[in-house]
Amino acid sequence: MLGCLLVLGFQATAQAAEPAKISRNEATSSFGQDVVFELEAESSSPIREVAFLYAFGVQPGDVPAYTEAEATWQPGTSIKASFTRDTSVEFLPVGVTVRYKWQLIAEDGTITETPEQSVLYQDTRFNWQEKSERGITVRWYDGDAQWGQDLLDSALGGLDRLEQRIGGSVDDPMTISIYSNTRDMRGALPPNSADWIGGQARPDLGLIIGSIEAGDQAELGRLVPHELSHLVLHQATDNNYGGMPVWFDEGLAVANQDSPDAGFKQMVERAAKNGELIPLRALASNFPSDPEKALLSYAQSESVVRYIESTYGIESITKLVAQFKSGVTDDVAVQTVLNRSLDTLDSEWRATLPAAQGSGPAQSLPDDTAPADRFSEQPRSSAPSNPGQPNAQAANQAVPLWIWLAGIGGLVLIVSGTIWIIRSSRQPRY
Ligand SMILES: [Zn+2]
Repeated sequence: MLGCLLVLGFQATAQAAEPAKISRNEATSSFGQDVVFELEAESSSPIREVAFLYAFGVQPGDVPAYTEAEATWQPGTSIKASFTRDTSVEFLPVGVTVRYKWQLIAEDGTITETPEQSVLYQDTRFNWQEKSERGITVRWYDGDAQWGQDLLDSALGGLDRLEQRIGGSVDDPMTISIYSNTRDMRGALPPNSADWIGGQARPDLGLIIGSIEAGDQAELGRLVPHELSHLVLHQATDNNYGGMPVWFDEGLAVANQDSPDAGFKQMVERAAKNGELIPLRALASNFPSDPEKALLSYAQSESVVRYIESTYGIESITKLVAQFKSGVTDDVAVQTVLNRSLDTLDSEWRATLPAAQGSGPAQSLPDDTAPADRFSEQPRSSAPSNPGQPNAQAANQAVPLWIWLAGIGGLVLIVSGTIWIIRSSRQPRY
C-alpha cells in the first residue's frame, strides 16, 4: 500500500510540476440516509478526469481493493466534486469504516492522488458509549459503564479461549455494537429483514450487531463469545468461507460460549438412542433447514469439537485450524491431524454416546441445504462482495415453520457474507 502510494507520488512529480491543491476533502455520514464525500481542488492545468475510490473495512497491512465510483463534477481549473452513497437504497452495516481517496488527472497529465481517509458509518440515533481493548471495541447506549465492561470482559474472555485453541493471536479490529432491544436494532438492519432476525455478524468486516437487554448476563455470555468466535476463526483461517466445515466453525462457536445452550447434551444423547444422529459428513457445508434438525446440528457440532479436544488435545484444534487455513477439505484435514478418516472420527465419537435402541429409523442426509438457526450461516463458497448484500438467514425453535420457509425462500437469492443472529423476545432460542 505504502509502496503503491510512493510509486504514484513519484509518477506525479515525474509527469508534471504541480499537483492540484486540495482545499477541501470531507465525508459526512448521516445514518439511514447517506454518506456524502466532497472534494474541492485547484489546478494550474484544467482537470480532465476525476475518480472516487472506496473500500470497506479496516484492514491494516492489506492491499486494499478499491471500487471506483462515478463522482459528480465539472471540468475546469477549480473543481468541486462529490459522490453520494444513498444508504437508504444501498445498505451499509453499522460500524463499517469506509476508506476512500480521490484521483485527479489534469490536461497536462499531472496526476494528483489524495491520501487515504476514512469515515465511520455510525447509528447516530443513539448516544453510544464505547470501550476498547486488544483490538476489540464494544459499543452500547443503554446500561451503565459496568454493563459496557461486562460486554468487553465477555468478548475478551471469549478471545482468550479462542487464542488458546487456534494457537495464536489475531490482529484485525473487531467492533461489537449492542442494541438494547430488537426494535431499536431493526433500524440498523437491511430493509425487509425478517421479523425474527436478531442481529447481524460480518466476519469479513469484523462487525457484529446484536440485541441484548442491559444486564442480561445469560444472553451476553451466549451471544458475544459465540459470534466473536466466527470473527476470530474467519481471521485465523484467512479465507472467505472457503475451507472450513460448518460443523467445525459452529462447534467451536458453541463451545466458546460462557452460557452453554441448555439441553444440547441431552438432545445428542436422545438422537443417538433413537438412531437419528446426522452423519458428520452432512454437516460440512450447510445445516438443515428443519428447525429440530438444525438444533441437533449445532448440538452435534459442539459435541464433536469437544470430543476432538478432549481426546486429541487442544493442539489438535490448532492444527485443524491451520489445515483449514491452507484450504484443504475436512477429509484431508482430519486425516492429516487425527490420523483417521472423517467417517472413523464420526464412528468413534458415536461410540461415546448411548447405543441406538431397536432398529431405529435409518440415518438420512438432510434433504435440503438451507441454513437454519439463530446463528446460521449461508454458503461458504463465495466471497462476500458488498457490505450492503447480506447472504444468510436463520431462525429458531420458536419460529413457525412457515416463517422459516418464507424467509428461506425470500433470502436464498441474496449473496454471501452475513451471519444472521436470531433471537426470540421471550425465551432462549436456538
Ligand atoms: Zn454461529
